[in-house]
Amino acid sequence: MIEPEYVLGLDIGGTKLAAGVCKRDGTLVSSARVPTLSHLGPDAVIDRIVELCHRVMTESKIPDIPFVGVGCVGPLDVKRGVVQNPPNLPGWIDIPLRERLEKALQKPIFVDNDANAAALGEHRFGAGRGIANLVYLTLSTGVGGGLIVNHELWEGANGNAGEIGHSTVAFDGRLCRCGSHGCLEAYVSGTHIASRARERIASGAPSQLPEMAGGLENISAATVLSGVQAKDAVAMEIWNETLLILAAGLANVVNIFNPEQIILGGGVIHARDLLFTPLRQLVAARALPPLMQVVQIVPAELGDNAGVLGAAAVGWCRWKREKRKAQEPV
Ligand SMILES: [Zn+2]
Repeated sequence: MIEPEYVLGLDIGGTKLAAGVCKRDGTLVSSARVPTLSHLGPDAVIDRIVELCHRVMTESKIPDIPFVGVGCVGPLDVKRGVVQNPPNLPGWIDIPLRERLEKALQKPIFVDNDANAAALGEHRFGAGRGIANLVYLTLSTGVGGGLIVNHELWEGANGNAGEIGHSTVAFDGRLCRCGSHGCLEAYVSGTHIASRARERIASGAPSQLPEMAGGLENISAATVLSGVQAKDAVAMEIWNETLLILAAGLANVVNIFNPEQIILGGGVIHARDLLFTPLRQLVAARALPPLMQVVQIVPAELGDNAGVLGAAAVGWCRWKREKRKAQEPV
């Protein structure tokens, strides 16, 4: 089965839309990004998406791009390509994205959530090249996950596998936006690292973080990391707790999946040595030794183009799957 040489990758986020024509080896022939302007609602945003797709296809000068891979903020019904009211896309209530784009672009459209897209992108072009079994975890506003099993995306029964951010690390812990308590995300996402620091300071702990951020309300995860470097007591306490809880979450991942690699992406990985050096030891203290021996914990590699490359990888992965299905004897 020979893969098409070029696909269009489309990354739909709450703040930006990015698209690019991607070659099989991961080279971007053309690419562009524009703000989503999500307040304009789904119809206007879909018009912007279609315009952006036409623009990058024209700029690429590739005459016939066979299909489009899409990574989109969830929740989604992946099988039907329907967007189901994501918090970052207000008004997108059961929007049939795949159908709308197929009509407008006259090409097959393959849609997946942004975390699965990122996992596929890292597996195909980034830190996970050649690795059979890996777990991708993004630590940003929320915590998303994607699983690659035997070089294939593991989708689960209805396309929602890999929600590691909503695995429980404290059974009666902090309220999560999913409605449950004690989810990994409710501690280690950028949002919750910042809110835990603000809560600690509001309860009376002395700290320079409000001054560093220009007010208590402006404290972000990045402020906490700067505070760690400045040896601020609250920042160090919050960060050490974050590492312990993340390590517990990753030890669960190691013990359940026995992966060869865990790739961490998202804004929080800018912490680099403050994160990866202690994390490995803390995970090793919890995970079973034979499983720990074979796993690397590494940063994502794709950087700024991760969204588009991941979306393109969704395209190839789904196209291959459909071809295979069509060839199966009935
Ligand atoms: Zn949750």
